[in-house]
Amino acid sequence: MYQFINGRTEQGTSTHTHDVVNPATGGVVATVDLASAADVDRAVAAARAAFATWARTAPGERSAILHRFASILTERAEEFARVESSQTGKPLRLTRGFDVPGTIDNIEFFAGAARHLEGKATAEYSPDHTSSIRREPIGVVGSIAPWNYPLQMAAWKILPAIAAGNTIVLKPAEITPLTSVMFAQALNDAGLPPGVVNVLVGTGPEVGAALMRHEGVDMVSFTGSTAIGRTVLEAAAVNTKRVHLELGGKAPFVVFEDADVDAAVHGAVAGSLINSGQDCTAATRAIVHRSIYQEFVDKLATRFRDIRLGLQDDEGADLGSLVSVKHREHVAGMVERARGYAKVLTGGEIPSEGVLARGAFYPPTLIIDAALDSEIVKDEVFGPVLVVLPFDDDDEAIRLANDTVYGLAASAWTSNVHRAMRATREINAGCVWVNDHIPIISEMPHGGFKQSGFGKDMSAYSFEEYTQVKHVMFELSGSAEKDWHRTIFQLR
Ligand code: NAD
Repeated sequence: MYQFINGRTEQGTSTHTHDVVNPATGGVVATVDLASAADVDRAVAAARAAFATWARTAPGERSAILHRFASILTERAEEFARVESSQTGKPLRLTRGFDVPGTIDNIEFFAGAARHLEGKATAEYSPDHTSSIRREPIGVVGSIAPWNYPLQMAAWKILPAIAAGNTIVLKPAEITPLTSVMFAQALNDAGLPPGVVNVLVGTGPEVGAALMRHEGVDMVSFTGSTAIGRTVLEAAAVNTKRVHLELGGKAPFVVFEDADVDAAVHGAVAGSLINSGQDCTAATRAIVHRSIYQEFVDKLATRFRDIRLGLQDDEGADLGSLVSVKHREHVAGMVERARGYAKVLTGGEIPSEGVLARGAFYPPTLIIDAALDSEIVKDEVFGPVLVVLPFDDDDEAIRLANDTVYGLAASAWTSNVHRAMRATREINAGCVWVNDHIPIISEMPHGGFKQSGFGKDMSAYSFEEYTQVKHVMFELSGSAEKDWHRTIFQLR
C-alpha cells in the first residue's frame, strides 16, 4: 500500500499497478498500487480538513516537529540512501553524500524559517490609521515532482509549504515514488498531524492532471518539464490557483580566455555529469574562448574517457545508470541524430557487455562542431552529454549563453573580475555561478527565468511563496465623518 492519505497508508483505487525498477540492474524493487482521480478527491479533502487546525498552529510548534523529523531522518539516513539509490540507479556515494544530507539540511533550514515571518512594521502610514501585515498560509497545495532527485524534490515541495502553515498533496513521479512515501511516513512519526502531508502515487495524466485541476487546491507547485508545466498553467486557471513552476534547463558554462583551464575542465566534468546529467542545472553547453578551445576539449575528452560506470555499491564507479531504459532511448536518440551533423568525440555507445549491459547505463558523451540551431544545442538531453561551442569575444559569449528559451542556471569561468561581474549581470538565469557549477545551499533560492519557470525553491524566498500577505488597517479617530469622505460626497 503506497498511498499516504490522512496519516495512513492505503491502497490506491486505480486498477493498475506499477513496477518500480532498479534501472542499474533491471530488477523490480517494488510493485506499487496506483492512485486514481477518486483518491485525489480524498487526499484533497483530508488536506482541507487538516488545514483549519494546522494553519493556526504556532510557528514554534511546526518548527519543533521539523526538528524532530530531521533527527529521525539522520538516524535513518542509510536506509533512505539505499532506497533512493535502488529506485534511481544513483551510486550510493551520491545518495549518501548529497541527496540525503542535503535533504536533512533543508529540513533544518525550514524548521528555522517557520519562526521567521517577514513583513513591514506595524505603523500609522496614514495619520488616522494603523496598518499591519499578516503573512498567512495559502491553503491546500497540490505538488508534482520529477524522478531525478525524488527525495530532495519531496523535501523542496513539502517543507516550505508546511512550515508556512499550508497542507499538501504531493504526487511524486510514479517511477521513483518510494522515498517520497517514506518521507511522509517519517513526518508522521515526528508528530505531524494527519492530513497535513498526503502523498499519492499515480500517473501524470490521471492523478497529476486531476490534482492540478482540482478546485479544492489553492496553489500548485510543479517541478518537471516545460511541456507539462504549460499544461499545469492552463489547469490552474480553472480557479486561478497560485502557480509555482520549476521547469527545464539548458545551462551554459562559459569559459573565458583568462580562465584556469584545468579548473574549468574539472568543473565541466562535475557540472555536466552530476546525477548522470539528469539535473536541470547541469552544464550542457560549454561555451569556450577559441584561444583555449582545443586545450579544453582535449583535456575534457581525456577526463570523460576515464569516467567509470558501475553498480550502486561499486566504490570504484563514478556514475550510475540513467533512470530508465526508456529515458536512455531518449538520450541515445538525440546523440545518434547529432552524429548526422556534429562530431561525437567520446561516449555515445550503449554498454553491451558485463553487468552494465543489464542496466540503463550511458557513458559521458562529448560533442563538438554542432550548429547553433541544432537539436543537441537547443533541446534538453537530460543525460551525460556536453556540447562544446567556441566563441571569439565577450559579446558573443554572452549572446550564446542567452541563446536559449531556458534560464535556470549558468556559470562563468574567468580570473577577471570585470568579466565575472558582466556575466553575472547579463546572463539571464536564476543562478549564475562564478568559477564553479552546481553547488546549491538551503539558504539561497533555486528557480528559473524565461521558460525555466517562476517561483523559487529552498531559502526564505521559497517560504514566502507559500504565504500570502494580508494588509490589516484600523481606523483610529472613531469619528463618523472622515476627512477622505469629502472626495466621494459632500459632508453637510
Ligand atoms: P515530466 O514533466 O515528464 O514529469 C514531471 C512530473 O509530472 C511527474 O510526476 C509526472 O508524472 C507528472 N506529469 C506528467 N504528465 C502530467 C500531466 N499531464 N499533468 C500533470 N502531471 C503530469 O518531467 P520528468 O521527465 O519527470 O523530469 C525531467 C524534467 O524535469 C526536465 O525537464 C528537468 O529539467 C525538469 N526538472 C526541473 C527542475 C527545476 O528545479 N527547475 C528540477 C528537476 C527537474
